[in-house]
Amino acid sequence: MNYGAFQHDRKYCTHCQAYVAYLASPTLSYCTQCGGEVRLMSPKDWEVFNHERSSRPRPKRKKSTQTTRRKRSAV
Ligand SMILES: [Zn+2]
Repeated sequence: MNYGAFQHDRKYCTHCQAYVAYLASPTLSYCTQCGGEVRLMSPKDWEVFNHERSSRPRPKRKKSTQTTRRKRSAV
C-alpha cells in the first residue's frame, strides 16, 4: 500500500504542539504520536484565519474610504 499521501496531510496536536500525522475517524482525528485529539489548525493559526476572514472578507485592490470608516465604527 502507498501511504505517501499521509505525509502531506497533517493536523495540529495540542499535546505535541506541532503539526503531526494523524489517524482519521469519522468524527475525530488522533495524533499518531501521543494518541491525543488533533485539530485542523493550531489555535494561533485558527485565530489568524478567523481574523483575516472577518476583518476583510473580500480583499479589494482599490482602497476605498468606506472600508476604513467601517473598520473604525466596528471597533
Ligand atoms: Zn500528539
